[in-house]
Amino acid sequence: MGKHVHIKSFGCQMNKLDTALVRSALDEAGFSLTEKVGDADVVLINTCSVREHAEQRVLSHLGHLKHIKKSRPDLVVGVIGCMAQRLGDELLEHEAVNIVCGPAEIPQISELITKVMQDGKKSLAVTAGIRRKAPAERSHALEEFEAAYGIEDGRIPAQAFVRVMRGCNNFCSYCVVPYVRGPEISRPPEAIIEQIRKLADHGTRQVTLLGQTVNSYKYEQGDKTWSLADLLGAASDINGIEWLRFVTSYPSDEFFDEIMQIMADSPKVCNYLHIPAQSGSDKILRAMNRNYSCEWYLELLDRARAVVPGISIAGDFIVGFPGETEEDFQATVDLLRKAWYKNAFIFKYSPRPGTRSDKRLQDTVPAETKQRRNVELLAVQEKISDELSRDFLGRRVKVLVEGPSKKAHLNSADAADNPQLAARTATDYIVVFNGPESLAGRFADVKIIRTSPLTLFGEPV
Ligand code: SF4
Repeated sequence: MGKHVHIKSFGCQMNKLDTALVRSALDEAGFSLTEKVGDADVVLINTCSVREHAEQRVLSHLGHLKHIKKSRPDLVVGVIGCMAQRLGDELLEHEAVNIVCGPAEIPQISELITKVMQDGKKSLAVTAGIRRKAPAERSHALEEFEAAYGIEDGRIPAQAFVRVMRGCNNFCSYCVVPYVRGPEISRPPEAIIEQIRKLADHGTRQVTLLGQTVNSYKYEQGDKTWSLADLLGAASDINGIEWLRFVTSYPSDEFFDEIMQIMADSPKVCNYLHIPAQSGSDKILRAMNRNYSCEWYLELLDRARAVVPGISIAGDFIVGFPGETEEDFQATVDLLRKAWYKNAFIFKYSPRPGTRSDKRLQDTVPAETKQRRNVELLAVQEKISDELSRDFLGRRVKVLVEGPSKKAHLNSADAADNPQLAARTATDYIVVFNGPESLAGRFADVKIIRTSPLTLFGEPV
């Protein structure tokens, strides 16, 4: 039997997809996957560098593994992902770590593990000059890795993620992504479409297209330039695929109207848009190097709503960015009220080493002020979310069932045959209802009988 590998994943959907690819590559290479660290010969941690907190969690996990290695010195520990690329050698010096492998080098992961198991030497695979255009061999290796292994996440039945582009060119001043994932590269449309077709053949019903700025997908092919709208159109023609989503969008004019139009025209493209604003103050947006004003951003939301009535929109914000005054913060509260999001993800600013805001701006806002602004903004959003959720009372919605609900929300009197299931609407509302577990991965009609700001509660129709 092959050696056992345990993988722990931190961070965004892009990382989860990398983890799924690594899992499937290791499985193919003869390793067995295990959910328990205690049973593992190899522990891989897929890391995130976007926030300081995420890196601290990885370091504390490595501290724990160092302790385990005292009694099990043969245990191989590999760090992959953004933190591996950012810290490279420094991370390799950690007592617990045997392998450091950046996101663009993951096609080598099974060879790296095998080599460390054979010679016991530490191994570093990070990308030198990551902002330079990738050499053909690296792009080719990544493309092959993606296409060969990107079959299905396997965690949520009938759902899968497909990367349409890598990297980012935007250089928002607080963000580490362009430095660890490299320049923006759109994948060839035929590879993406082929992958979706394969997924559909394997029973996938919902595909989420992934990119750091997914709406800027652009691929020149002869006379034609493929946009995300073209990809969504082509994917809509694939039999078996019923819902298509895409995340995350950057507020930009390019292709925006086409993307909204395909959302309006294709019944398969879900009416959901995740489009971070980050701040409601033009001064702060400039300091963040976000290339739009608040007024323009709100107009963009109006444009989306005009073309796709009923679209649900989610946003992201960073509070406590350097120089954010009470007035700037109130402008963010204002924008949040006007944007009328379904939900918003709110983060407290933390400087990331190597980024422009870290090099040029002082982290001036005290931690307690960041905390207060975070709580205040969440409270405003909660009222809006609550109001939007109430609209669903008594309505019948179509949902795609994900599986048993992690939290016990409902009266679970009949939990034996009908456990609580978690599902989502096309507009990304979470719906919880009692039903047979066999519904996981299938569509169901549910009548909403109760609501809360972030969850709808229903009963099957
Ligand atoms: S758009 Fe900005 S925040 Fe998003 S990944 Fe690129 S640099 Fe980071």
